[in-house]
Amino acid sequence: MASSVDSWSISDSAWRHVMTNEVAIIGGGISGLAAAYRLSVSHGITADVFESESGVGGRASTVMLDGRPLNTGAQFIADFYTETLDLVSQLDLNRAVAQRSQTACIVRNKVPQPLWPVSALLKSPALSWRAKFRLLGVLPNLVRTWRDLDVHNLARSIRYDRKTVSEAIRESCGEEDVDYFFGPLLRALLYWDAETTSMTVANAALKAFLTNERTLQFPEGIQRLATRLAEHTNILPQTRIVKVTRQGNGFLLATESGRVAGPYPAIVLAVPAPLALPIFDELDSFPFLRTVQYSSSVHLALDVDGQDPDYPKGATLFPLSARPEIASFNPTYEPVSQGRRLISVFLSDAGYRELAELSDEDLALRAMEILTSQTRKLSWADSAQRAYCQRWEYALPRFNVGYVANLEKFKRDFKLPGVALAGDYLSAPYVEGAVSSGNAAAERVAHEFRNRVH
Ligand SMILES: Cc1cc2nc3c(=O)[nH]c(=O)nc-3n(C[C@H](O)[C@H](O)[C@H](O)COP(=O)(O)OP(=O)(O)OC[C@H]3O[C@@H](n4cnc5c(N)ncnc54)[C@H](O)[C@@H]3O)c2cc1C
Repeated sequence: MASSVDSWSISDSAWRHVMTNEVAIIGGGISGLAAAYRLSVSHGITADVFESESGVGGRASTVMLDGRPLNTGAQFIADFYTETLDLVSQLDLNRAVAQRSQTACIVRNKVPQPLWPVSALLKSPALSWRAKFRLLGVLPNLVRTWRDLDVHNLARSIRYDRKTVSEAIRESCGEEDVDYFFGPLLRALLYWDAETTSMTVANAALKAFLTNERTLQFPEGIQRLATRLAEHTNILPQTRIVKVTRQGNGFLLATESGRVAGPYPAIVLAVPAPLALPIFDELDSFPFLRTVQYSSSVHLALDVDGQDPDYPKGATLFPLSARPEIASFNPTYEPVSQGRRLISVFLSDAGYRELAELSDEDLALRAMEILTSQTRKLSWADSAQRAYCQRWEYALPRFNVGYVANLEKFKRDFKLPGVALAGDYLSAPYVEGAVSSGNAAAERVAHEFRNRVH
């Protein structure tokens, strides 16, 4: 346990040194694995990846339910994920990805109505004509900032980052557009709140999705990306690191079970910021890390009658004003098996916090009650059985107003010899952000190694 390790001295005989590679990576999610892969393939530097769970992937993991894959966190990637798609090619996974449809509905007067793509919205009663027309109000700002909106480099648009999504959309469009369009999309895609999220970051995402041609999925599960990356490195599963200590030019890692690994010349902390802070005391000198916030969510998978004509075709979202809160439900796109299919229900951050104390079983029952109370009779609801429940305390880092400016300053100031950080909170809140932060961490470590040699 962390407290007992804290009280040990480094010379304590209970600490057992193990043979090591050159770099220790804490966290076998996409960012940690991308860092290990880049270190190995581009720089010939070997790494040990310490992962607390039994499998790699973190928030991009898959479980098998009666032979059907269910992605517990990340569901899809998009064609603007350039560094991820580069990895997909390098790992020979091109044939493991398939195109996925991008449609979304919003519940209006208890009926799901088409919301996305924009062409479907034009004919849909999802928004009043006035609200549809007022959506054009985003254009002047979008056009003015268009050239600087870049999901791969959010810093380019820092100077515009002054308003939240709610403030900006209320001013330029209207309340209905916040409640039925921007707010629900933000909440369902990123578990974010319109009241705090930066409009500039949302615009960068909007531009990426408007110019995005394809959304891609891994039909056998997104975890394939992680497991393929893991083939190129040494993984230590079920090894939770509770403390990292600097010793001379190296680092010792204490595990939850009381073992010690190291010394390593360099470490990469590839876990969410709130989990990195208690592991390594030197991070306390960077107040920014304490300000990183995450939304939470729950993914409930329901097993339903696969022949049901009401089976949803795309994601179904709920207006912000709907109470109690829920984020969305959608089919999992997996093939029908024995007449059964899976439907995923995602709770919003506030929706989950209200129900967090419930057991998985009660949470599923309550979520179904909320769904059915807010939507006209869903015939599949009668056949729904809870198949899986995944709670995400750290679902996605929040990119609120001012976050990108603080992040950029932090990146400029962060200097701890032998230490690099990785994770989506350092780049962008999706798989691409995890990959690019992992690549950047690997470059940082490799650069230091080169300087040490010379
Ligand atoms: C519900 C949900 C839906 C999402 N949908 C999408 C989507 O459709 N598309 C998309 O692109 N992105 C999506 N994302 C975001 C995406 O999953 C993440 O951005 C990305 O996977 C983050 O990777 P990471 O390596 O930064 O962090 P993580 O995946 O959190 O990796 C951290 C790893 O460290 C391990 N760990 C933690 N503490 C320790 C410790 N002390 N010692 C050892 N190991 C430790 C964890 O077990 C984990 O494996 C979604 C996320 C969630 C939660």
